[in-house]
Amino acid sequence: MREFEKPILVLSACLDLQPVRYDGGTIKDEFVIKLRNYCEILPVCPEVGIGLGIPRDRIIVYVKNNTYGVFQPTTGRDLTQELLAFSNNFIKSLQEVDGFLLKSKSPSCGVSNTTVYKDTEGKEFYTKGKGLFAMEVLKTYTDIPVEDEGRLRNPQLRDLFLTRIFSLAHWRVFSKELKTITELMNFHRTYKYMLLSFSPMLLKKMGRLLAQYRSKEDLESIKSEYGLLFKKALSKKPHAGSHINTFMHILGHLSDFLTSREKKHFLEVLEKFKNGKLPISVPREILRSWAYRFGDSYVLSQAYLDPYPEELE
Ligand code: SF4
Repeated sequence: MREFEKPILVLSACLDLQPVRYDGGTIKDEFVIKLRNYCEILPVCPEVGIGLGIPRDRIIVYVKNNTYGVFQPTTGRDLTQELLAFSNNFIKSLQEVDGFLLKSKSPSCGVSNTTVYKDTEGKEFYTKGKGLFAMEVLKTYTDIPVEDEGRLRNPQLRDLFLTRIFSLAHWRVFSKELKTITELMNFHRTYKYMLLSFSPMLLKKMGRLLAQYRSKEDLESIKSEYGLLFKKALSKKPHAGSHINTFMHILGHLSDFLTSREKKHFLEVLEKFKNGKLPISVPREILRSWAYRFGDSYVLSQAYLDPYPEELE
C-alpha cells in the first residue's frame, strides 16, 4: 500500500467549517470534509481578512473598462484595493503550497460561476467569472492546481486535482531529502506512466535531463530543473486519449501473461472509459490487479495506477 505525503492546501475558511460566511454560516461539503483529513490545511477568508464583519452585507464583483472590482452596495464602499492588498500579502506570506481549494461563486474566492455585474449596484448582469482573490491566486500560481468545490463535483476534474496535489506534495518532500541521482531516477521511474499521460514531450525531456548527469556536482542543477519540468508537466490537462495511450503502454507491458479474452475485455473497458461510461478508476484497478497477480513490481510501483488515497475516489 502506497504512503502519501500530505499536500499543503489553501482552503477557503468557510469550507473548513469556520463560521465566516456573510450570514455566519459554513459550507458542508462531504468531499472537502474527507479531503481535510489527508492534507495540511491553510485556511483563508479574504473578506474577514479585510475587516468585514460576520454577518456582513453582500458584496459583488463588477467590471468597468475591462477592470474587475468589488463593491458593497449597501455601504457604498469600493473594496477593490483592500481585497487586492490582502490577496497579495497573503500570497507573499505563503512559503510552500501544493494547491488551492476555494469556494465557488464567491465574489472573493470563486474560481468559477461568480456573478459579475456591469454596475456597482449589482443590478445588471454581465457574465459569470471569478472572485478577486481567486484571480490574484491564478495569476501567481500557474503551475499548481487552483479549484473550487463546485468544479470538483466533476469526477474528471476531481481526479486531476487529487492526482496533482498528491504528486506535487510527493515531489516537495522527496526533493528535500534527495541525495543521489539514483534516487531521482527511481522517482522518475515511478512517475513514468503518470508523466506519459500528462505530456510525452516533457517525459522525454526529463529523461534526457537525467542522462546529462556526470558527477555529484551536477545533482543540484538537475534536481532544480527536474522540479520545474515536473510541475510544468503536471499543469497540462490529459484528455481521455492520453489516458488510453498510457493504459495501452501498461497493457503492452503485461500482455504476455494475459489471455486474448482478457485483453479484449480490457479494450472494451477502455472504450467505455473513452465514452464517459466508466470512471478512470476501473482500467486503473484492472491493471493493478493483474500486476498483483503476476507479481509485476514495476507496474505496481507506478504512481499513475495509485495516484492518491483510494478513500478519496
Ligand atoms: S467564500 Fe471566501 S470570502 Fe467568502 S466566506 Fe468563504 S472564505 Fe470567506
